[in-house]
Amino acid sequence: MKNIGVIIELDKGRVKEANLGMITLARAKDVKLFAFVLDKQAISVKAVLESFGITTIVEICLAKDQQNNPATRAKAMINAIKKFNISMVFGLCTAMGKDFLPRMAALLDAPLVMDCFFVDLEQKTARTYQYSGKIIATIQLSGQTLLFGIRPNAIEPVKAQEKARILKFDSSHVFAGGLRVLKSGGAEKSTAINLAEADVIIAGGRGMKNSENFNILFQCASKINAAVGASRVAVDSGWVPYSMQVGQTGEKVSPKVYIACGISGSIQHFAGMKTSGMIIAINTDENASILSNCDYYVKKDALEIIPVLTRILDNG
Ligand SMILES: Cc1cc2nc3c(=O)[nH]c(=O)nc-3n(C[C@H](O)[C@H](O)[C@H](O)COP(=O)(O)OP(=O)(O)OC[C@H]3O[C@@H](n4cnc5c(N)ncnc54)[C@H](O)[C@@H]3O)c2cc1C
Repeated sequence: MKNIGVIIELDKGRVKEANLGMITLARAKDVKLFAFVLDKQAISVKAVLESFGITTIVEICLAKDQQNNPATRAKAMINAIKKFNISMVFGLCTAMGKDFLPRMAALLDAPLVMDCFFVDLEQKTARTYQYSGKIIATIQLSGQTLLFGIRPNAIEPVKAQEKARILKFDSSHVFAGGLRVLKSGGAEKSTAINLAEADVIIAGGRGMKNSENFNILFQCASKINAAVGASRVAVDSGWVPYSMQVGQTGEKVSPKVYIACGISGSIQHFAGMKTSGMIIAINTDENASILSNCDYYVKKDALEIIPVLTRILDNG
């Protein structure tokens, strides 16, 4: 029997959707699934976790002033992994996971593969995109503890009802020196809906022309519960913050629908969104490469089309 741990990310006290695909991936015969919750909210997430096959929920209790400190959280997680003999650890490849998982790997001196969309628990292999998404690499890991960062939304969640118990793991004494969190702020407007976990993304590129025009995308996004993304050109031009960048050097996303507005579809942009369920492009140039790599396109000015779409959604 293998003990596998999944690190659960919460959003305002609720289990983020992306955790559910990750748990589905970690579930297998002869596997005991542990969910690690680093917020004191295990009881409120118990029902959803057990409906996806979790049998043990470990609530890691940190000192109040250490709760947002990624170094302390990583240290406490490692103590818990050792205590519960966890041989594989799954976390999400989100902003939090990218901060947290490499810290854990470094402290454990353990192998870590980020941005996995499949893990073979028997073979101890992970599949991930490499070289801007041009190839898929299958990477074999060896060691006492293996870590995997899972691409959000890459795996369809499947329910499997179990009964879970909650264990408290006191880590209030854990403190990591060298890093002190001075302030934690609210999310930027752009990240009101997390890009990596959104079902629908409307992204803008150079074709949006300026920062103000991105409001057109925000207005439309608010009608359909979508997140707003951007190409690197839009970010480098200072129109939107880096947290909105999709691509090789930005966020890797797998929404059900990706609407690219005034984006040409460079290899580097594609590397971040090619696993989207459906790609819709709005572009004035019919030779733009995104038009030969999408499911639907509109050959029109995005600045005209998006407000019309917003009005239709408003009336609908
Ligand atoms: C190492 C490296 C890493 C990179 N990482 C990333 C990354 O993570 N993400 C990323 O996006 N890029 C990345 N890039 C940059 C990438 O190569 C492209 O330069 C960038 O993606 C182009 O952005 P764009 O599509 O917005 O602009 P452009 O390529 O200039 O395309 C603009 C498009 O908008 C269309 N258009 C213009 N006006 C309108 C309008 N009114 N309505 C509709 N369409 C219109 C044009 O026809 C054109 O197709 C990286 C580059 C390098 C070298």
